[in-house]
This record gives sequence, structure tokens and C-alpha cells, in this order.
Amino acid sequence: MKEFGLIGYPLGHSMSPFIHEKLFSLNGVDAKYSLFEISPTELEKNISALKELDGFNVTIPHKTGIIRSLDYLSERAKLFGAVNTVKCGEITKGYNTDCHGFLRALDCAQISLSGDVLVCGAGGAGRMFIFESVLAGADVTVAVRNPDKAIELKNEIRNKLGKDIKIISLSEIAEGYDLVINSTPVGMSPDTGNSVLSLEQVKKCGAVFDAIYNPLETKLLSFAKKAGIKYSNGLSMLVWQAAVAQEIWFDASFEKSDVERIIAKTQEELSK
Ligand code: NAP
Repeated sequence: MKEFGLIGYPLGHSMSPFIHEKLFSLNGVDAKYSLFEISPTELEKNISALKELDGFNVTIPHKTGIIRSLDYLSERAKLFGAVNTVKCGEITKGYNTDCHGFLRALDCAQISLSGDVLVCGAGGAGRMFIFESVLAGADVTVAVRNPDKAIELKNEIRNKLGKDIKIISLSEIAEGYDLVINSTPVGMSPDTGNSVLSLEQVKKCGAVFDAIYNPLETKLLSFAKKAGIKYSNGLSMLVWQAAVAQEIWFDASFEKSDVERIIAKTQEELSK
């Protein structure tokens, strides 16, 4: 039996075992997926035990800290300085599948990553959305609480990708973006009454992607629904990043329709 898992701290109620087990069964893979709650000060002493697994996922706060224990980094993991998937073996390899999860989620919702893209928030997920949007050729505006804090990111993007992004304050958001991406926790349970954009602003945008999946329909997404524009919540990204991790771990392959069924099952599980 193959053994996989998730490291993070704290882990709380994670959907990852549910999602991975459903994905394992699609490929008939005999594997188990466990949760390992490891604090930042305990990562070092747990590394050799983790390397005995076939592979593992990495979440907050270890996405950067894990890098020093790896022998190889994928191009995207290197670019973002963040790893969420590790494949163990003779050498230990680190990947970032969040970005592939994001791109496949957009594809499933038929949302194009082009034109004027507004990314709200510039934390771990926000960084990846910004990099992917710039790589896709979009004109990127980043809205944050404190624009001064994002200057370093602007310089990093200029140095690594040779392109400029615009940084504004969340209170300065204009309208008319082709795509709005929310990577702040605004609208997440239990504060479900908040949204980074108003209905009037959303009505003038082309599509909305909200990284949040609890609730499945944030206030921002309810505005997109009312406005009649394309939208996606973060659940599709969560399931797709897990599917891509399994593609890396054991060359699994997935039909879009099968993954969409697992997204629906995960949605049912979350709604219980
Ligand atoms: P993070 O690293 O903590 O970054 C959060 C960002 O939001 C930061 O820019 C932060 O600004 C900003 N922010 C925090 N509270 C805010 C508020 N009240 N008003 C305005 N801005 C605020 O978190 P993350 O890992 O990027 O996650 C962000 C969201 O994405 C979460 O909802 C998370 O659940 C979701 N997510 C989803 C997936 C998925 O697979 N669907 C994956 C990863 C994350 P400051 O720097 O000023 O604090």
C-alpha cells in the first residue's frame, strides 16, 4: 500500500483525505492519506520519517520551510518559492500544484486568464495568482490593505518576469476588470457578510474567481451570480491541485468529468 499525507500546523478539519481517497479510487490505487500536524519547530526532526512516505502535501506554515530539505524543485516551485507537493524516492522532489489547480479550475469554469486582471490580496495564494496572471500575459492590478507591503513583490515580479504590476489599496478598486480574483479571507466563514467588491463593481467585471470554498458561495460570488457573469469558487482549485499531485506521485491520469464528479461529492460533504 502506498502512503501519502498532508503536513501543516494547525490542520483543523482538512478535506484533503476525503479528496485524495476519492481520487485514489478512480485509478484503482491502493493507498492511504494521513494528516500530520507538525509545528514549524518540529519540521526538521520529522523530515526523515516524512521521506519514508511515497509523497506528501504541504500547507501553511511549511510551504517555504520545506524547501531546504528537498533535492530538486520544479520550475514553478522555484519561481514562487513555495512547495505544496513532495515526491519521495531516491531524491526528494518539490512541486507546486496549486498553480495547476488554479489554471484547471479556470478552464473548467471557462474563465479566461487575460486582459485586465485584479488580484485582491497578496499572501501565499495571492502571490501565485499574480505570477500566473503575469505569465499568462494579463495586465495585473493587485489590491491590498497596505500597498507599501507589496512593493517587494512588485520588484520581484519585475526582476523575475520582466513585467510591471500595479499595486493599489483595496479602497481604491475601480471597475471594469476582465477577471477579479479574491485571495483575501474576506467573505470566508464565519464573516460571510463581507465582500472585497460591491455588486455595482462586480456588474462591470467579466468574471470572478474566489479562492474561498467555505462557504461555497461567498458574498462576492453571489454578486457575480446576480450580475450574470462567469464565476468559480476555490473548491475546484482544491480538488484539481490534489489530482495534479497524484499525477506527479504515480503518473495518475484523470478525465475532467471524473474530477468534476469528485468536486460535486466534496461539495456535498462540505454542505453536510
Ligand atoms: P495569507 O497568506 O494569509 O494571505 C492573505 C491575504 O489577504 C494577505 O494579502 C492579507 O493582507 C489579506 N487579508 C487578510 N485579511 C484581510 C482583510 N480582513 N481584509 C483585506 N485583506 C485581508 O492567506 P492565503 O494562504 O493566501 O489564503 C488566502 C485565501 O485563499 C484564504 O481564504 C484561503 O482559504 C484561500 N485558499 C484557497 C486555496 C484553494 O485551493 N482553493 C488554496 C490556498 C488558499 P495582509 O498582508 O495585509 O495581512
